[in-house]
This record gives sequence, structure tokens and C-alpha cells, in this order.
Amino acid sequence: MANRFIEECQKIVGTEYVYLSDADKSPFLTDWNKRYTGDALAVLRPKNTEEVASLLALCNAENIAVVPQGGNTGLCGGAIPGKASNSVVISTSRLNKIRELDLENSTITLESGVILAHAQEAAFNAGKLFPLSLAAEGSCTIGGNLSTNAGGVQVLRYGNMRDLSLGIELVTPTGQIFNGLRGLRKDNTGYSLKDLYIGSEGSLGIITAATLKLYPLPKSKVTALVAIKNVQSAIQFIDLSRESCNADLTAFELISTRALNLVSKLAKNLGLISNSQSGWVVLLEFSSMEEEGINRSQLESLLGKALEADLISDAVLANSIQQSKDLWSIREGIPEAQFALGTVIKHDISLPISQIASFIETTETKLFELWPNMNTIVFGHVGDGNLHYNLAPASPDLSNEIEARRQSINQLVHDQVYSYSGSFSAEHGIGQSKRDELPLRKSAVEMELMRAIKHALDPKNIMNPGKVL
Ligand SMILES: Cc1cc2nc3c(=O)[nH]c(=O)nc-3n(C[C@H](O)[C@H](O)[C@H](O)COP(=O)(O)OP(=O)(O)OC[C@H]3O[C@@H](n4cnc5c(N)ncnc54)[C@H](O)[C@@H]3O)c2cc1C
Repeated sequence: MANRFIEECQKIVGTEYVYLSDADKSPFLTDWNKRYTGDALAVLRPKNTEEVASLLALCNAENIAVVPQGGNTGLCGGAIPGKASNSVVISTSRLNKIRELDLENSTITLESGVILAHAQEAAFNAGKLFPLSLAAEGSCTIGGNLSTNAGGVQVLRYGNMRDLSLGIELVTPTGQIFNGLRGLRKDNTGYSLKDLYIGSEGSLGIITAATLKLYPLPKSKVTALVAIKNVQSAIQFIDLSRESCNADLTAFELISTRALNLVSKLAKNLGLISNSQSGWVVLLEFSSMEEEGINRSQLESLLGKALEADLISDAVLANSIQQSKDLWSIREGIPEAQFALGTVIKHDISLPISQIASFIETTETKLFELWPNMNTIVFGHVGDGNLHYNLAPASPDLSNEIEARRQSINQLVHDQVYSYSGSFSAEHGIGQSKRDELPLRKSAVEMELMRAIKHALDPKNIMNPGKVL
């Protein structure tokens, strides 16, 4: 059967786009964090929606599981197949066309394999902004961003991927094409299938294209790295920023100095900031339709007020585009810099903003009671209540010891999150890493509704089995 199935795939996408050797398949079979490795009969690279539809109809008929994959930067193992090799990976990397830029409607329609940075570039070249921005933007795809409802550093001003999407085109698990590429801001015509598919992590079909919102390009941006008095003062600082500036607060990232100093090459020039007494800094950015000078003097005045109110102790303002990029590359370098610490247990959590300081204080105490040989590495989009709350062993040679405690550490952190009315997945999704915990954190009714939807759309469970549900 396997040979006949492979021949059919080759007829659909062409022999050169059916990868069968271990060498060709291996980049698609391990995740970015190198935590999950799976197996697959083949990796398939269709070039358009029709080829995706033919592949899904074939897989459905033959009971072959399908794992959709974009840039493979996901952090929950969602794009990696299981160990049993009765599945195929369908890579969207050739679905990479920008189909339409409608400047008067402020929309861009593009295929799901377009790399996020290329989408931003296409918008920029047309004098517009596509605002989704995250550290993996050079590799992640629009389809992956939609399927995980990605967030990133500008959610504060522009919202997450769901907020930025007007329409999607998709292929169902049985190979039907649904063209919902509507560029409408208002469209109340029954259930929102778009919203169902966004965040479904490839478990309900394959998204092949999307119509997304564009915004005016800001005239100026100003960036600063600020040492704050404590975590609570960061939260007060957000309010002060909103009250005292006409410009839009587009990013507000909380970073512990332990996380900051991991990116030591860049951070060493920051002097007092990287030694912030409180152990915390924020990276913030204002975007404005005003000239840069006006934007900058507003930020300077805000920093003055924050100093007077004893919310901050020091600040570095970027004086050029390059300096601003350098500040951002510190923030963006943190996820990768953690590899040097050995096994890091990661949590992508969200909390009511008002509860963040208390959460951090009480959780750290409980964690050290559990096992004192670890360090917290905390950074995240605190303006959205989203923290990357990571635990590293005190030295890399304690990696096995922290790994042995993974379950108890996860349980402690997530119990804390729920005691503060938070969520154990803010922006990365469920994938395979959090799948077993989902029924413990959701009500029975919510799980039953989700299973009913999955069963109605994918009765043979061919779409990304073992993920989400
Ligand atoms: C350094 C780094 C920084 C990151 N920062 C952020 C951040 O700030 N905010 C954030 O939200 N995420 C962040 N991420 C996580 C990741 O980049 C995002 O989840 C991204 O949206 C995934 O896109 P991708 O194309 O790589 O998807 P993949 O990893 O390929 O897939 C992710 C999931 O989507 C499914 N999928 C992919 N394409 C499709 C499709 N066309 N149709 C249906 N299902 C599909 C896959 O099956 C899988 O379940 C970061 C990751 C890294 C490595």
C-alpha cells in the first residue's frame, strides 16, 4: 500500500517534491527546541491549494495521518509527527505567493507558506505596516502564525493574529476547498469558520491563504531600555505611559536581568541597566505619526515623570535606528541564548496584569522549596499579561536532575497560574507538549464541545493526531 500511496503523491506534487530519504526528511522531523523527533512516510511539498486538496483527499481515503508544517518554529511540538510512520508531513513552503495587495482596503492576501518577514516586507514596500512581529519572523510562516494564533511584541497595540485576520482559505480533512478570503471588517453571516481554524494547530485542516489587515506606517519609533524599581512598578509604568503620551505604546517587554545578561555580548554596554538593582528591566517602544523629535521628547518627559514617581531608576534611549535594533536584538536573542543553560523547562503563561507581581513572588518561593538548584529566566510581553516563565538548572550538568522534576515543576507553576486566574498557554498553543494537561485545565463541557467539533470535521482523525486533543 505504502508504495502505491507514494506513487499517487508523486503524481500530485511531482517526484522531486516527495522527500523519502532520511537525509531529506530529517529537517522536518525535529522541532526547534530539539525536544521532539518523529517519523513520517514522506515529506510532501505541494505548490498550490489544489495540490493540497488532492493530497488531503488521498490521505483521507488511505487513512494516512497528515501533519501540516510551516516554518517549524513552533514551541509545543505541534508540527512534528509521532513515532509511528503512518503519517506524512505536508510542508507549506512552496505556497509562498503574495496574491493581492489592496491598498485602499488596507489588506494583503497571501499564501500560508509566506515567511512572516516577507509579508512585513511586502507591506512595507507598499507603504503599509503588517504589524505581527516576533523573534522567529525570519523563518515562521503566515499559516503557522494563524494556526497558533501567534502574538509577539506588538499585540499591545495591534492585537494577535486572530485580530489581524479578515479571511482565510483552507482545505478540509476530506480535501474540500473553502474560500473565505473576504476582506470585510464586518461579516456576521453565521458561525465564524475563520475563527475556528485560527489557533486550531493543524488539527482541523490546512490553511492555504489569508487576507490580513494592514496599517499606516508610523512616521517615527522611539525605543528605550529602562531599569524598573520592581515588577509592580512596571505595571504602573504602563498606565503612566498610556496617560501621558499621545503616541501609541506598541511594545512593553519585561525582562529579568538574568535573562538580559544571557545575551552578554550585546548587554555588556548597557552598564547600570544590566545591573538593575531590582533584577528587572523593560524594553518599550512608542510609534507615532509625529516627527521623531516630538515622539522622543514625549518619551523623555515620560521617563522624567516615572523617575519622579519612583517607578524607574535608570534608562537608555536608542539614539539611532541601529541602537534601537541592538536593543531589540537583545530581547530577540534570549530564546536562543537559553540553549547554553542545559535543559530549560519553559512556560508560556498569561495572567491578569494586576496579578503578575504577586505571581512572580509567590511562585519563586514555592519553586525553591521544591528544588533550590534552579534559576528563573523570565521575560515576556508583560503589557499583554504574557510571561515566558522558564526554569534553568543552576548549572548545565544538573540538566538530568531538572528533567527528572519536569512534571512536578510544571504542575507547581501551572497550579499557581490557575490560582491567579491565568492560562497555561498564552501564545504558543498546546501541540503535543501540553496536550495531556488540557483536560485537567478545561471544563468537561469545553472539552466535549471541542471533541465534537473535531469529530464532525475530521471523523477519521487524520489531521495532526496526538496534538491539541
Ligand atoms: C525564537 C522564537 C521566538 C518566538 N516568539 C514567539 C512570540 O513572540 N510569539 C508567538 O506567538 N510565538 C513565538 N514563537 C513560536 C512560533 O514562532 C510561532 O508559533 C509561529 O507562529 C509558528 O509558525 P511556523 O510557521 O513556524 O509554524 P510551525 O512550527 O510549522 O507549526 C506550528 C503549528 O501550526 C500548524 N500549522 C503550520 N502551518 C499550518 C497551515 N498552513 N495550516 C494548518 N496548520 C498549520 C502545525 O501543524 C503546528 O501545529 C517563537 C518561536 C521561536 C523559535
